[in-house]
Amino acid sequence: MSALLPDDEYNRVLMENVHPPQWRNPEPAGRYNLVVLGAGTAGLVTAAGAAGLGARVALVERHLMGGDCLNYGCVPSKSIIRSSRAIGEVRDADRLGVRIPVGVEADFRAVMERMRRVRAEISHHDSARRFRELGVDVFLGEGRFAGPDKVEVGDTVLRFAKAVIATGARPVDPPIEGLAQAGYLTNETVFSLSDRPRRLLVLGGGPIGCELAQAVRRLGSEVIIAGRAPQFLPREDQDAAAILARAFQRDGIDIRLKTTISRIVVAAEGKKAHLITDGREDVVTVDEILAGAGRAPNVEDLGLEAAGVAYDTRLGVTVNDFLQTTNHAIYAAGDVCLAHKFTHTADATARIVIQNALFRGRKKLSGLTIPWCTYTDQEIAHVGLYERQAREKGMEVDTFTRQLSEVDRAIADGEEEGFVKVHVRRGSDEILWATIVARHAGEMISEITLAMVGKIGLRTLATVIHPYPTQAEAIKQVADAYNRTRLTPFIQGVFRRWLEWTR
Ligand SMILES: Cc1cc2nc3c(=O)[nH]c(=O)nc-3n(C[C@H](O)[C@H](O)[C@H](O)COP(=O)(O)OP(=O)(O)OC[C@H]3O[C@@H](n4cnc5c(N)ncnc54)[C@H](O)[C@@H]3O)c2cc1C
Repeated sequence: MSALLPDDEYNRVLMENVHPPQWRNPEPAGRYNLVVLGAGTAGLVTAAGAAGLGARVALVERHLMGGDCLNYGCVPSKSIIRSSRAIGEVRDADRLGVRIPVGVEADFRAVMERMRRVRAEISHHDSARRFRELGVDVFLGEGRFAGPDKVEVGDTVLRFAKAVIATGARPVDPPIEGLAQAGYLTNETVFSLSDRPRRLLVLGGGPIGCELAQAVRRLGSEVIIAGRAPQFLPREDQDAAAILARAFQRDGIDIRLKTTISRIVVAAEGKKAHLITDGREDVVTVDEILAGAGRAPNVEDLGLEAAGVAYDTRLGVTVNDFLQTTNHAIYAAGDVCLAHKFTHTADATARIVIQNALFRGRKKLSGLTIPWCTYTDQEIAHVGLYERQAREKGMEVDTFTRQLSEVDRAIADGEEEGFVKVHVRRGSDEILWATIVARHAGEMISEITLAMVGKIGLRTLATVIHPYPTQAEAIKQVADAYNRTRLTPFIQGVFRRWLEWTR
């Protein structure tokens, strides 16, 4: 748990909302329908939804309402990514025939201040007072189970019919010799920087590492990104990762894939990181190191043993498909129990929990169709299975791809590098998964998600009129490509004979 710095007007507004210094916890109101541990997205959505339906709800937060997303995750990262995109636009403007006579430079302090302003502005949605007005009893303090049907917050005991564990996750401390002594940044501290690090080493080529490496590079730091895997975003489509690597090269990021760090040594000139790539050692000197590799679920010190809740320190709280833990009165939602650690999955699982815990619903985690997006430039969005999962299930797949270099709007935008790739069950138009690489792939993927949720196949997507010219036309063009495969030689023959006959 890290303090938010600096102590300026924006962070003071933020704290007034997410952890008001003068806050007094209410008197517990008898037995609650629902006690929610953790007020990140999963906890907030569960508490607000349940209270809105008339449940008596207690919400316990030990640090900042809004959790990672508001304070240390999506909101601050997307704010600085917006500024870094502006730099990219100006830098590349001459490709569009726009000359910018003097060079472009980010004002790092101003970018970080804007981020704090944006975060403070959004924070009232998640504020303790707003939740009190929604009818939720908000307890600020560390919560832990004191038995199968009670939670303690300090000396206060909250009894419940049902409870939800929504305690989220935290950055993993990389086990690298000398790193702790040298000191390093995580997502909990990087957004407190006011001064730009001149040289930054980013550990990890996953979504968090990639997004922040590119953003900070464009804001003017020299950036080295080191990942163990042979590609960025190791679980994503190889072609997508290759496009990202090229974008990083254009940005001037020093890329070290298939790389481990053996140790860090502090010297007068900076932090010296010993990188091992293909058995060769290289030493780089940086001012800051950002650990962006891996998230660990917050399962420690929750009294889970007393509550009869099984967990794994790596995988999180054990849940069944109904998000029920091994104590059937206790559920879990969000990062603490999910492999897909996203705000929208925290939200979606909170909705499942409300129905299942309070109304004996039978909504299933496995019923969710989950999209996600890495907000690099270009964005990489995905929905549905991973290729590996499809192979494990022995699924036969047909793939339809449209390169953005064939899409008029992308050409006009000068954003030809990217694609829409849709995979269907062989011999059918049922979409199994899709990857989009485009400037705004995160906006485009929802059309395919909707199709998958609504069980709409590529045949129907081909009939959807898209405004011309848009990059999303690529989706329709993929569907057209599928339709062309239905034009078998036999059907072509029938058509030909019909046309000859009606001439
Ligand atoms: C840099 C970064 C960028 C990200 N960007 C995106 C993005 O663009 N899109 C996206 O979908 N996701 C993104 N994520 C992931 C997203 O932030 C998380 O998936 C989401 O916040 C999970 O919500 P949650 O409620 O499960 O957990 P959290 O947000 O972690 O909330 C858990 C809360 O529980 C509290 N808590 C823990 N233990 C206790 C206890 N014993 N008692 C009381 N309270 C407790 C914590 O203080 C915390 O407030 C990003 C994450 C990071 C780190």
